[in-house]
Amino acid sequence: MAYYNNDTILYLNGAYVKASEASTDYYSQSLHYGYAVFEGIRSYKTASGETKIFKPVEHYERLKNSAAALNMPWHWNVDELIEATYEVLSRNNLQDAYIRPVIYAPANMSFNLNKESYIMIAAWEMGLFLGDKLLRVMTSSFQRPNPKGFKIEAKASGHYVNSILASQEAKAQGFDEALLTDTNGNVAEGPGANMFFEKNGKLVTPPLGNILPGITRATVIEICKELNIQVEERLFTTDELKQADTAFFCGTAAEVIGWHSLDDVVFPKNWNDSIGKIIQKAYKDRVTEKPVTKEAVA
Ligand code: PMP
Repeated sequence: MAYYNNDTILYLNGAYVKASEASTDYYSQSLHYGYAVFEGIRSYKTASGETKIFKPVEHYERLKNSAAALNMPWHWNVDELIEATYEVLSRNNLQDAYIRPVIYAPANMSFNLNKESYIMIAAWEMGLFLGDKLLRVMTSSFQRPNPKGFKIEAKASGHYVNSILASQEAKAQGFDEALLTDTNGNVAEGPGANMFFEKNGKLVTPPLGNILPGITRATVIEICKELNIQVEERLFTTDELKQADTAFFCGTAAEVIGWHSLDDVVFPKNWNDSIGKIIQKAYKDRVTEKPVTKEAVA
């Protein structure tokens, strides 16, 4: 996948520079120790034709919280970063895009605090995900990082070694994606997405504590409130999950995507008749700011 070409512009510490000419410090604590925080954000070409970043305040506030959780200095203001992001989109002629801000550390081979942090914001084209192909999910042999060993609520680069291992393991065994449990053996989340299951007309999702507090997860819960769909946030095991009617992942990149199966258990309910399908459509309408019509409400 080519993330950039010779014309691509990224935002780097207050300046707009060519991605092909930008450089970073090979002595950075971020490169050596995975000590950085980042976001994954999407923009969409909305129904009116305008480009809109979905929930930019929520994403940049989470970035700020992630930096604070890791004791990384924060020098920016959220509104400025949102403006810079729109500028990156506009300079690269992007509408449907994935946006990747990263806060990184200076050269430092010790474990000491830094006085400064740096920021880059990159973006590349990413179309609306259709999500019609259902995923074959595998229970990972990897657990999510222990919340007593990591700030699990932070979107920290180093945590993603765990995601990479889990995802690679699942794909090597012929599955599409992994499902990770927490250190107590309850279901936590995917390598880069939260999850919900449907049982008897209700949705269930793991509570905060062992998962990234997903912005899509929060949006799904909002949509459920509006549609009067009951959601329980509680712990459950893979054994309980295997008795579910259907299940889905949700995340900024993945949006809402249904599951075909977990390990060798195929979910019995047709995705097209599921609550997940209703949420998937409502999510798509929300991110693209589709006007609500009478038909859509019915
Ligand atoms: N969990 C993990 C581990 C993730 O990397 C992501 C993607 N950021 C999510 C959940 C979903 O979060 P969001 O909906 O905010 O993208």
